[in-house]
Amino acid sequence: MTNLPKLLYLPVINSSRKLFSRKLISNLTGEELITNFWTKGKSPFYYPYALISSFYGLDWFNYREEFNLPEEMFLYSDSGGFQAVMLDYANVNPLAVVSWQQKNSECGSILDVPPYEKLGTAQFGGNINKLFDVNLEKTQKNVDMMLKNWTNKKFELQSVVQGETPEQMIKWHTGMEKVARDNNIEFAGYAMSPKPANDPYKIALHGLLASRVAKDKPIHFLQATGGNALITIVYFNKLLKNRITVDSSTFSYGSRYGLFFDLYESFERKIHIGRVAEGREEIHANFDELPCNCIVCRHQIGKKIKQFEKCDWDFVNLHNICQTVNFVKYWDELATDRDYFMKRIGKERPELLKVFAMIDYGMKEGIEKAYDKYKNVISVTEQYHKSSNLMRFANKGTSEAVIPQVNVKTDEVNENV
Ligand SMILES: [Zn+2]
Repeated sequence: MTNLPKLLYLPVINSSRKLFSRKLISNLTGEELITNFWTKGKSPFYYPYALISSFYGLDWFNYREEFNLPEEMFLYSDSGGFQAVMLDYANVNPLAVVSWQQKNSECGSILDVPPYEKLGTAQFGGNINKLFDVNLEKTQKNVDMMLKNWTNKKFELQSVVQGETPEQMIKWHTGMEKVARDNNIEFAGYAMSPKPANDPYKIALHGLLASRVAKDKPIHFLQATGGNALITIVYFNKLLKNRITVDSSTFSYGSRYGLFFDLYESFERKIHIGRVAEGREEIHANFDELPCNCIVCRHQIGKKIKQFEKCDWDFVNLHNICQTVNFVKYWDELATDRDYFMKRIGKERPELLKVFAMIDYGMKEGIEKAYDKYKNVISVTEQYHKSSNLMRFANKGTSEAVIPQVNVKTDEVNENV
C-alpha cells in the first residue's frame, strides 16, 4: 500500500450509480470532459483515494480494471451493511463480499448488519434495542465466514463497531473480537459507526472507544457528515497516533440538488445553483458562472450555469470534493497549533468546545464516565429520526437546515448521505 496521509478523507465514489455509469467512464478519455479525480495527468483535481461500496460493486468482479481505477489509488471498501438495511436487500453474501474486497481494495470493513430499522429517509435509526442482539449474532456469522476466507493479508479487514451507548458499543465490539479470537486472527483496524453520523457527540463517543480498543491500528469513521463532524475527527487525529480515515458522500449534493459548496464556509453554506423544482420555493442563486476559481472550476470558466448539461453537474461534485479535501487539510493544519485552533473554534464554532471537553474528559476518565456526564446532549437515533431533519445536528440554524430539491436529472436513488 502506498504511504497514506495520517488523516484522510475518502469521497464515496459510488454513492450514486451515475458516477460509475459506463457512459461517463467512456467520456473520461475525452479532452473536454474530465469528471473523475483519479486519472493522473488528466483529472483537473487528482486525488487517488476513495471509498467504494461492495454493495454496488459486486456485479463487477474485476471492478478495479473495469473502471480504470489506477493501481496507486487507495480504495476502502465499505461492505454494504448500510445499504442492506436501507434497501431491504439483506441477501448480500459475506463470502462474495470478502472475495471482492480482497480483489479490489486495500482496506475494508466487515459485512455488518447494523442494529437499526429502516425509517424511510436517507438514514436509518429507530429502536436500537429491539434488533441489537439479533443483528449482533447475524454479524458474527458473517464475520466468521469472512475471517475464514480472508487470505490476502495485504488487504486490511476492519471490524465495525455499532451502538449508541458505551455498553452497547462494548458488547458489539466484544462480540466481534470473540469471533476473531475463535479464528485465531486479529482485525487490521476498526471502523466506527456513529449514528447519526453528523452528531459530533456521537463521533466523540465512538472516537473514545476507538482510542481504547484500536491500539496502533487504523481507525475509520463511517459516513461522517458536515463541518462539525469532520473537525471533531481532526481533533481526534491530533490526540491519537493511529491512521484515521473518514468517508462522506455529501459532495454528491452537487449533481443531486445543484448544491455548490461555498468556498469560505464549505459545510455551513451551500449555494443552490440548480434549477428549482416545480412548486417549491427555494432561495436560488442565479449566477452566470460558478463563483470559484479552484482547480476544478477553472475548467468551467466561460461556461454559463444556465447552459449546464447533465454531466456538468459532476463538475460541481468535483468542486465539492475539492472543497472538502481543503476543509479537512485547513482545520487539521490549524489544529497543529492548539491554542490558535481552540481560539478559532471558540469564535466560529463555539458549540464544539463542549464536544472537545467531553473528549478530553473521556480520554482521562474513560468513555463510560464521559457518557454519563454528557448523555443529555448526545443525540439518540430514535428521537433524532422522529423529528427527522438530516442536518439538524451538524448545522443548527444555517442554510443547510433545509435540503432543497431541484430537477437536475439524476438516475440514482440509492445513495447514502
Ligand atoms: Zn471550485
